[in-house]
Amino acid sequence: MSMEARELSGSDRPSAFARGSIHSIETMGTVDGPGIRFVVFCQGCPMRCAYCHNPDTWRVDSGASVTVEHLVEEFESNRSFYKTGGITVSGGEPLLQPDFVGDLFGAMHDSPSGRVHTCLDSCGYAYDPRRPDRFEHLFDECDLVLLDIKHADPEEHRSLCGCDMDSILAFGEELSRRKIATVIRHVIVPGLTDTVEECTRVGRLIASWRNVVGLELLAYHTLGVSKYEQLGIPYRLAGVPQMDSRHLPELRRAVLRGMKEGRAG
Ligand code: SF4
Repeated sequence: MSMEARELSGSDRPSAFARGSIHSIETMGTVDGPGIRFVVFCQGCPMRCAYCHNPDTWRVDSGASVTVEHLVEEFESNRSFYKTGGITVSGGEPLLQPDFVGDLFGAMHDSPSGRVHTCLDSCGYAYDPRRPDRFEHLFDECDLVLLDIKHADPEEHRSLCGCDMDSILAFGEELSRRKIATVIRHVIVPGLTDTVEECTRVGRLIASWRNVVGLELLAYHTLGVSKYEQLGIPYRLAGVPQMDSRHLPELRRAVLRGMKEGRAG
């Protein structure tokens, strides 16, 4: 069950924590981290991935302002559902609001009812390697990161997502240095990221990261296309078919092979 941001905008009480700007929450999330999860979708994303199925999260000025306390109350009211899961903050891009996400995760860790597992679902682009101090609190409170690697080639990355990949790689390296468990996600799009060569390159790119605990290859789908029509935004992948998931095992093996090759030197 999801709740839109407008339903959440009633939390105007003073707070000891940083406030957040969010798009919506999902109370029974099953795809963003282990177990059943309470998922908070942040508002605002600086990337423009051609296949994004949440373009309604892009604008930074249209979210609902919420307190950490409000989200903790929402979580606690259904705590029994999340015994094997926890909380995930997704987006949009959560790294645009590191104080809010760090405070929310800290509150979940310190819950009087028991520590809650925390998971950050991020594209990494909003990380600023010149200001690691801004992210210190968030790093400290993060149990697991789901990190998207969109493309292994810098030019293709720019074309696919409208931005460079330097800060994304710097974020991955910092997670590795801090030994924060990380699952790498890679969306497989026909004609763009679906070759053995590309997937092998992704593997080489992440080979030196010693914190990678999982790898998820996600088949491109077209479920979000109607949102583009509603928002009046041109959909850049019009005509690209959905990815046939039968190819995913072979491409997954290619990523793993690239990691092995990269580690062998
Ligand atoms: S990083 Fe995520 S939310 Fe942002 S444009 Fe890409 S897919 Fe969409």
